[in-house]
Amino acid sequence: MAGLGPGDRIEARCTRCNDVTGHVIVALVGGEIVKVECRACGSVHKYYPPATPKAAKVKTAVCRVKAGETRKEAVNAFKPTTTPSTAAASPAALSRSAAKAQKLADDMEQNWQRTMNQTAAASRPYAMNETFAVGDVVDHPKFGSGVVQELFPPDKMQILFREGAKMLRCVC
Ligand SMILES: [Zn+2]
Repeated sequence: MAGLGPGDRIEARCTRCNDVTGHVIVALVGGEIVKVECRACGSVHKYYPPATPKAAKVKTAVCRVKAGETRKEAVNAFKPTTTPSTAAASPAALSRSAAKAQKLADDMEQNWQRTMNQTAAASRPYAMNETFAVGDVVDHPKFGSGVVQELFPPDKMQILFREGAKMLRCVC
């Protein structure tokens, strides 16, 4: 804590914001921060460090040798109760997959934007009894503008909309 003094800005947990926010040190005792002021809500409270490391929570598994078993059998039979690879359930993994989904959506939108830019055709309103050709721009009441990518005779076509490719009815 060397170098920190009253008025310095630090990250701390705020009990009112229920979050880690920027704080200003209000008081120190023997080099330890004891009081801080939350810059988000203005409350003055005890200093709570921003992160509570969870590394210390690793369960120490105990492997016992049962009567009649060799040590090796006991080790083989022993299965850890906590599998470390439940990453999909952790909040970090969730936000990672959310970020991935967001990136996919962005890519899809860029792809759509590119396709729209390359298309000089005037848009036509979508109707399932109309005939369209690849490259036609279609205005759909729900999905917006899209470009016909592929025809699936006799009655389907794939159109790339902003939100992705959709299979729609047509006459082809
Ligand atoms: Zn606060």
